[in-house]
Amino acid sequence: MTRFADLHLHTYHSDGTRSPREVTDLAREHGLDIVAISDHDNIAAYFEVKRYADERSVTLIPATELSCGYDGADIHILAYAFNTFDERIDERLRRFREVRQRRGYAMVEKLRALGYDISPERVEHLAAGGAMGRPHVARALVERGYVASIGEAFDKLLGSGKPAYIEKARFSIDEAVALVHDAGGLLSIAHPTLYPDHERIVPELLDAGIDAIEIFHPDVDEENRERYRNLARFRGKFVTGGSDDHGSAKEVETLGTVRVAETLIGPILERMQ
Ligand code: AMP
Ligand code: FE
Ligand code: FE
Ligand code: ZN
Repeated sequence: MTRFADLHLHTYHSDGTRSPREVTDLAREHGLDIVAISDHDNIAAYFEVKRYADERSVTLIPATELSCGYDGADIHILAYAFNTFDERIDERLRRFREVRQRRGYAMVEKLRALGYDISPERVEHLAAGGAMGRPHVARALVERGYVASIGEAFDKLLGSGKPAYIEKARFSIDEAVALVHDAGGLLSIAHPTLYPDHERIVPELLDAGIDAIEIFHPDVDEENRERYRNLARFRGKFVTGGSDDHGSAKEVETLGTVRVAETLIGPILERMQ
């Protein structure tokens, strides 16, 4: 029987609200047997839930969603099936999260200077020791009633160019490719249609060594799915997919809406042997 996968999921180790166990249980309820928890710049969920997943016959694939920069744009690159004990990945992600945390506190300072009375301790608590980011700051703003929703916090204050926005450090594509390939892993371009000028950028990312394109994602429409399915085939790359669920941190919960047949993601499963 064909098994199905969701290769793009977030937990409280980045900006999702669910625990790794909740994600695993919910995935199983939706008939998914292969799961990759791809927290932003963090692989803590893997260690937390590996044994639990094993006991429930869920194949857990090591994963993370790397915050990369390319040509001035924020590009998210999914990394899969790398050696989780690779010291360079561990060290690099740890340093990266420290930088993220300093940026988080700096955004809180900006907001406080603008009259928004939110506390750095609360934001740290919401980030729960994971990869602190704008969504945690946004939640603190919602809690205090300054904005009605996370979306409004981004629109008014935290979005690119807005008053409390601070640029984030990013991995270069070359660094991400080297880091993950050296650790035996593979990379996929997350939600390819979310980048400005993606029709130019996506092929360039493949040239730079990215192995796959995430064509199954709630934000990728049918037309672009076909476009990028064909591009991947033409370039000898493969395709991946996932729901990008963040629990209740996003307007809609998407877990279960994307199911990728295992036959499509052979290159990843082979690395798991
Ligand atoms: P950061 O990594 O701290 O820059 O935060 C980026 C994250 O914020 C993304 O990965 C999304 O999960 C989330 N995000 C970005 N824009 C919005 C938005 N308009 N509404 C809600 N969440 C958003
Ligand atoms: Fe996110
Ligand atoms: Fe993303
Ligand atoms: Zn994501």
